[in-house]
Amino acid sequence: MLSKANSQLPVSRLLIEYPGNSNEPTLVIFAGIHGNEPSGLTALINVRHKLTEQSIALKGGFYGIAGNLEAIAVEKRYRDEDLNRIFLSERIQKVQNNQDELNSEEEELKQILHITDKINQQTTDEVYFVDCHTTSSESIPYISLNEGYRDSYLFAKGIAATSIIGVEREIKGCLPEWFNREGWHGFTFEAGQHSAPSSVESQEAIIWQGLFHAGCLYADEHAELFDESQQTLYANGANHYTFYSVISSYRIQPDEEFVMKPGYENFQKIRLGEVLATSNGQPVMSPANAHILMPLYQKQGSFGYFVAEEIQEKYLEFKELH
Ligand SMILES: [Zn+2]
Repeated sequence: MLSKANSQLPVSRLLIEYPGNSNEPTLVIFAGIHGNEPSGLTALINVRHKLTEQSIALKGGFYGIAGNLEAIAVEKRYRDEDLNRIFLSERIQKVQNNQDELNSEEEELKQILHITDKINQQTTDEVYFVDCHTTSSESIPYISLNEGYRDSYLFAKGIAATSIIGVEREIKGCLPEWFNREGWHGFTFEAGQHSAPSSVESQEAIIWQGLFHAGCLYADEHAELFDESQQTLYANGANHYTFYSVISSYRIQPDEEFVMKPGYENFQKIRLGEVLATSNGQPVMSPANAHILMPLYQKQGSFGYFVAEEIQEKYLEFKELH
């Protein structure tokens, strides 16, 4: 049961802390940014255990940061507002100026930034990150990349997972966009359904793959671990080198009664005009022949679903960071 698994989690902010040398790369794993998504936290604890048990030496820094501690404790997506919508300049200025009263998520944001600032001070090398999430619907594991960040794309590209691009065009204030702009390279990883056992497996696999692709572990020295983590992602349905681009989303209004039709899975094909959901009893239809992403099967959430089309890798565009 989810509640049991969750109540056993030690709710401390810094689950893994290996500073590494300042001239080595660093991997930062965020987990539990949404409090009802505990699989990343469990995976971090499992990885930490394996590193110690097998005396695996890292060639860089490695941090595991727990996200919304207050929400994790009560197994809710958030307390006052969605933590994954407030990584915005004005909100960050607010939490750092020490004058205003902060709500629950602003306090979490402040504490997370305190750690990430320290990481920036500790290293002169590249910092990579993965923000571990899960979905309310059944799903294969997939990566969600912000458009235009070449090094994040190259980091993701080697990993055995389907990628979607451009969610930030529809949702503002997500953690990866902030850290991409800060010069870190990384993405959101959606491991599968919130409470599926395969989600913990996939989170562990992405953390190991992250360590390899960030350069904190070498595949030739730990071939078994590399292969095993890649095979886990394949076995759970990840599809290498498949890219989707987000073309639209369905935003739920504050007093709207939105009900998703049952049975949609992530990446399922949808047809133009297909009834996907109801809004205050009226049908909501697909705007295109495309694929559905993140259909909403939980109460908390401001998007009903996203619509994406499959794209070829050669059409991806990149912008340079300044
Ligand atoms: Zn999430």
